Amino acid sequence: MSDTDRADIAIIGAGSSGVAAGKALRQKRLGFDIYEKGSDLGGMWRYENDNGLSCAYRSLHIDTSRNNLGYPDFPIPSDKPDFLSHQDLLAYLEAYADRFDVRRSVRFNTEVTSIEKLPDARWRVTSKDGARDYRAVIVANGHLWDARWPSFPGSFNGTAIHSSQYRTAAPFDDKRVLVVGIGNSAVDIAVDLCKRAKSVALSTRTGAYVMPKYMMGIPIDRWSAFLSGKLRLPTLLTRMIMARLIYFAVGDQRRFGLPRPKHPMWREHATLSQELLPYIGHGWITIKPNIASLEGSEIAFADGSCAPFDAIIYATGYKTTFPFLDPSIFSVRDGEEVGLYRRIMPPGLQGLFFAGLVQPIGPTIPLVEVQARWIAAVLSNSISLPSQAAMLEEVLAYHEQKQRTYVSSARYTLEVDGRSYKAALLKDIAAA
Ligand SMILES: Cc1cc2nc3c(=O)[nH]c(=O)nc-3n(C[C@H](O)[C@H](O)[C@H](O)COP(=O)(O)OP(=O)(O)OC[C@H]3O[C@@H](n4cnc5c(N)ncnc54)[C@H](O)[C@@H]3O)c2cc1C
Repeated sequence: MSDTDRADIAIIGAGSSGVAAGKALRQKRLGFDIYEKGSDLGGMWRYENDNGLSCAYRSLHIDTSRNNLGYPDFPIPSDKPDFLSHQDLLAYLEAYADRFDVRRSVRFNTEVTSIEKLPDARWRVTSKDGARDYRAVIVANGHLWDARWPSFPGSFNGTAIHSSQYRTAAPFDDKRVLVVGIGNSAVDIAVDLCKRAKSVALSTRTGAYVMPKYMMGIPIDRWSAFLSGKLRLPTLLTRMIMARLIYFAVGDQRRFGLPRPKHPMWREHATLSQELLPYIGHGWITIKPNIASLEGSEIAFADGSCAPFDAIIYATGYKTTFPFLDPSIFSVRDGEEVGLYRRIMPPGLQGLFFAGLVQPIGPTIPLVEVQARWIAAVLSNSISLPSQAAMLEEVLAYHEQKQRTYVSSARYTLEVDGRSYKAALLKDIAAA
């Protein structure tokens, strides 16, 4: 009997996380089904994915450079650019899935509508194909698809969309556009728009550190990889050196009207953009403070200024939701403790795993590959799990450490320190 005939593990989602989970299970000869809502794999990296969930815009390029992005056993070919486009990344994920024979286990066009825990400790997965029971479920449904909309007093007469709905600049030709937010998507979209729109302003409450994609012609993440990986400097020292180097490259960003965050650089996600500061310098993008109120066709800002706009694009992030899962089993609440041992398993709930529910400073995709190997090791009984009490202790200790390290904000709910987190998972795997 082949491993798919005796599939007793379900994976929800065939994005980069679900595919990595499938590959790790295949290598342990564990049978699995992947349920995928859309008609093909790749998740958010499939532009205009027919699952209706991809936030990819046409100009999207990944921020992790090629060498730090690829899976260790499937490196990205060196003829690819430093920063892959969404098309390049999708092609890479497809090749990876084919190389490790994952695709044949995917049930495409099959949305999971519920998962329930059964009295015999198995899990019932329901989709349009009916219900099927599994000994384990790996949730890999992505956490960047359920748009978070802010609320401001008043109302706006123009077009208002969330960044997840933005595809190209064309609909904004000759329009006065306000982009709300200062994360990577906000800045990418402002940069994309500014040569076609009539005017582009970026509204930010707190500012963010802006890092260039290259320093001295080398992708910036290769510098940090060199300091922490090759020279083995501690994380804090690496971050302090990087902050200094970035200051030399960028200078004082307040010169561009961009507020400097109150916290040191290593306590926040920096925004990566080669273009933002020079484009502010060209007058193509202006910086505005937080919105105070929406006044019909005008927008009032916290500094007392008011200006007319035709469109608002809210790049204000995402809620982490699991529409198929009863919140009494597991849910994520902004800024609160995430009840997952090793950021993967709810303590005391045998057979439920989450892959990709992390937000590192640094690349997510290769980190989730390590999570996937960890899950496969647990499911093949190679890793023996601690007691429920010890798992709860780990969850609490992790949460407290996170609160001490990062800024308190919904954006950091799923935060992990990629380096130490990966080391902890690899240590468990090595001890198996
Ligand atoms: C603009 C942007 C830039 C980014 N840049 C980087 C970067 O530079 N480096 C990096 O490492 N990461 C980056 N990321 C993070 C990125 O989200 C992750 O790297 C990763 O690709 C997410 O993969 P995923 O499989 O977890 O989720 P997704 O890609 O969202 O895939 C989830 C899959 O689950 C499916 N699904 C959802 N619900 C169901 C259901 N009920 N039933 C069946 N199927 C379901 C969906 O159809 C989808 O295919 C970026 C994210 C964004 C938004």
